[in-house]
Amino acid sequence: MTALFKALRSAYDAETVQKIEAGYSERLVSLRVNSLRCDAETARSALEAEGIATERVPWYPDALVLPDVRESAVEGTELYRTGKIYLQNLSSMLPPLILAPQAGESILDMAAAPGGKTTELYALSDGKALITACERDKIRFERLKFNLQRQGATRVTALCTDAALLDDFFCFDKILLDAPCTGSGTVSPAAPVRFSEEYLQKCVRAQEKLLKKGLKLLKRGGTLVYSTCSVLPAENGELVMRVARETGATLLPVGLFGVPRLPAPQGTLAVCPTERFEGFFVAKLTKE
Ligand code: SAM
Repeated sequence: MTALFKALRSAYDAETVQKIEAGYSERLVSLRVNSLRCDAETARSALEAEGIATERVPWYPDALVLPDVRESAVEGTELYRTGKIYLQNLSSMLPPLILAPQAGESILDMAAAPGGKTTELYALSDGKALITACERDKIRFERLKFNLQRQGATRVTALCTDAALLDDFFCFDKILLDAPCTGSGTVSPAAPVRFSEEYLQKCVRAQEKLLKKGLKLLKRGGTLVYSTCSVLPAENGELVMRVARETGATLLPVGLFGVPRLPAPQGTLAVCPTERFEGFFVAKLTKE
């Protein structure tokens, strides 16, 4: 048994492990239409004119699923090259929707590259939220800047820095921590993950440090959304419950979405990997 399956078995019952393993399949391509540059109907028509079929997603008008093609079919299109669409798994669209950025709000994206969620936050606020995006890795930071430019997210302040080292003087209305994680929700035949118990513990330490820092930088009454593309409770529900207890932060319900779920603490959302969805976790916190 691989280390990942061992970890899954110690976290879930046999039936749930089976569901997760079945979801480690090849995933359908999905994309988000950049509402600042294009609307979903126009994008749909342009794709269908190129012979690419699309399906709508009930909980997000800007999301499209492409049931019949791989990413390469999209990467050649004008829509893609001009930043009118962004390839993104449906699960990964949830954290910005749950953070619900509004015009004029100051928002910190603590772990931003390559920028899928930063550009989604920007589009959801109609380009009117004041977003600061942090990325520690220099090469990934270049990718973030490229995507911000391509998507027209011109008013985002991008910082190549360790978010854990940000000055406590900063204070944000809303924070997204899409934390570095083991990626145990994204496993597929094309993308196996390198997993070990030591790596999991390293991720948990980094996640805990960043979440505590995020809660420090959050204004009282503000909202912090924590997410990972992992299905392991150690980096998800267990971690946010422990940090909430230690810091006095409160969990808020993330709301209902039509997505396949895994067991998770009440109010949080753990997405089961399937053909359409990467395994994902989202929690929403506030502090008084
Ligand atoms: N939010 C991104 C998106 O939607 O495109 C994906 C983020 S990925 C899950 C996590 C990112 O956090 C990686 O790019 C990693 O280099 C970065 N990272 C890890 N530790 C960090 C830290 N201490 N400060 C800032 N960025 C960090």
